[in-house]
Amino acid sequence: MDQIYEKVWSQCLTVIKDNISPSAFKTWFAPIKPVRLKENVLTLQVPSQFFYEWLEEHYIDLLKKTIKKELGPEGRLEYSIIMDNTLSRQHNQPFTVHAPTLNKKALKNPPINIPIELNKDSVESKTVPNPFVIPGLKKLNIHPQLIDSYNFDNFIQGDCNRLARSAGLAVGQNPGKTSFNPLLLYSGNGLGKTHLAHAIGIEVKTHYPEKTVLYVTAEQFTNQFIDSIRNNNQNDFVHFYHMIDVLVVDDIHCLAGKPKTQDVFFHLFNYLHQNGKQIVITSDQPPVEMSGIEPRLLSRFKWGLSADLQVPDFETRMAILQKKILNDGVEMPQEVLELISSKINTNVREMEGALISILAQSSMNKKDINLKLASQVIEKFVKHAPQEVTIDYIQKTVCQYFDIPLDKLKSKSRKRETVQVRQLAMYFSKLYTKSSLAVIGNKCGNKDHATVLHACKTVRNLLDTDKRFKRYVDEIESIIKVT
Ligand code: ADP
Ligand code: MG
Repeated sequence: MDQIYEKVWSQCLTVIKDNISPSAFKTWFAPIKPVRLKENVLTLQVPSQFFYEWLEEHYIDLLKKTIKKELGPEGRLEYSIIMDNTLSRQHNQPFTVHAPTLNKKALKNPPINIPIELNKDSVESKTVPNPFVIPGLKKLNIHPQLIDSYNFDNFIQGDCNRLARSAGLAVGQNPGKTSFNPLLLYSGNGLGKTHLAHAIGIEVKTHYPEKTVLYVTAEQFTNQFIDSIRNNNQNDFVHFYHMIDVLVVDDIHCLAGKPKTQDVFFHLFNYLHQNGKQIVITSDQPPVEMSGIEPRLLSRFKWGLSADLQVPDFETRMAILQKKILNDGVEMPQEVLELISSKINTNVREMEGALISILAQSSMNKKDINLKLASQVIEKFVKHAPQEVTIDYIQKTVCQYFDIPLDKLKSKSRKRETVQVRQLAMYFSKLYTKSSLAVIGNKCGNKDHATVLHACKTVRNLLDTDKRFKRYVDEIESIIKVT
């Protein structure tokens, strides 16, 4: 018969399974073995220190909730780590962990137990605390909410980010004093906006420790504002934000469709700007294309400098990975890094995800890190990650559908059929990629952003009036969506 701890754990797994992706479940939860349940403490055996740290960093909230659900509020979790004594001595070991968190003593005395007290603050502090504190507080007490590792040293420079990086550095060294106010950083997903935004805050703190810096996501800002209405302390909310010298608001596009929050932010913006305070914002779109944001706010965003972060080229991607493994104190063969950088080429976050996955697989299954292991992991990774539809792919699809050569689409030809195919490529690129109108225009026959806007409008009109045209469009759309 199943032991009670096995039953409890299997119930936990059912909940966990529903909350994470199948591949994450397989990688991080399938290898866990429950070993005992005593006085509301469930002990889980995990394959390595690395594994434990990963769970703690990424899944602690989920684990916490699940355990409490199964065992009640007193429920706690304890890990038992299987340590391999030979790990640190072998020469052919694929990688060694020099991370300072590694418990050296533990290596000699396997297995060890690391109690995780789910009720304690140490766990709570993993989630970002609410920086909004009510009055009476002094400026100096405001915690900037910055992540130390997201600094300029760790931010690799490349052609893709030169302007944004140097503008960020200038702002960090001279907040409120450059013409880059606000500084707006924009890019697609996983290309370093958040990292750079933190780096600016850290730079300010390094040069001007007395300045009050605050990093906040637009979502946190919105929630704090809503709370302040609910608690009837809007004045405190405003007062709090008036104290900030350098305000970093991440993912400002999240304010779309929230007119009240935008209104508050608009007044805050004006107040800070007039008082020579620095504002840094990030967004997934340039100001001209942000929808759902009021024009008066958009016009403010255009006052300073908007700089984009583009997809890094191969060399920069390699440099990012190399820096990452250096910082984490792990080693990895050069050809594996090259494989990652060449296969995953549009999103730095995914690249880092693959790197960590490879480390984890090797550590769990005690396999060498080599090209074979890496390509297995990357293949899975690339398959699971939603493929990004690119302008190139859309152009190819549309040209194939109408059987016209690709270079015609990219040419300046004004022949009717070419124009129509080009307009369709523009329309789908606007719909399915995060590229700006200018970039789309540039790639489709070197046109300007107004031409792209016009193309989108023409296609939409035709969709409403021409049934045959609509059938084409639907068919092409279904091909694009399959990707
Ligand atoms: P975004 O906010 O644009 O979605 P992030 O700032 O969260 O992207 O970046 C995703 C990951 O990629 C982070 O771990 C970040 O440190 C890393 N990263 C992105 N660009 C760089 C870079 N130029 N140098 C070093 N790391 C980078
Ligand atoms: Mg971000």
